[in-house]
Amino acid sequence: MFTLPPLPYAYDALEPYIDAQTMEIHHSKHHQAYIDKLNAAVTGTEREEKPLDELLQTLPLLPDSVKSTVKNHGGWHRNHTFFWQIITPGGATPSDNFLAIINENFGWFDSFKEQFTTAALSNFGSGRTRVIKKHDELEIVNTPNQNNPLMDHQKAILGIDLREHAYYLKNQNRRADYITNRRNIVDWNKVEELYNK
Ligand code: MN
Repeated sequence: MFTLPPLPYAYDALEPYIDAQTMEIHHSKHHQAYIDKLNAAVTGTEREEKPLDELLQTLPLLPDSVKSTVKNHGGWHRNHTFFWQIITPGGATPSDNFLAIINENFGWFDSFKEQFTTAALSNFGSGRTRVIKKHDELEIVNTPNQNNPLMDHQKAILGIDLREHAYYLKNQNRRADYITNRRNIVDWNKVEELYNK
């Protein structure tokens, strides 16, 4: 059975960039609901003991009746677990080494932020915008809904949840404010760790 991973910080620790009520509902209600539906779908199948990543990379092995539920809710579970771990109260600035990698791939840090924001603003609906590591190159990629780069055997090192439940209580329709606020809480140490993994 999959369980909700505890957050490594309090719900109000990301204030003022993400408010406590949004964090609490997003984590304890939305994320929990994805896990509950995932558990209900895999329980009783031959794949129920499989770790999440393996499950998502071998979707065709599931019975047809649960395939899309596992893809959707398993994908969302994976995406949310990822999302929580790359943010941290107060944020962390990139190391000089990692800044050099960003500069190499995107021109310079400000240009990266601009490109990422432009992609996120153009990502229609409830998708995610991510930075993907492909071989040694970094690329900004938009995906819809539950899709996870893992399903395409790619590795994400940074991403943002663009579903309205991630920001609506505080920012309402102002997605751009949410994207800009989020810059202040990115844990660049964690992003670098994922890059090097
Ligand atoms: Mn979400």
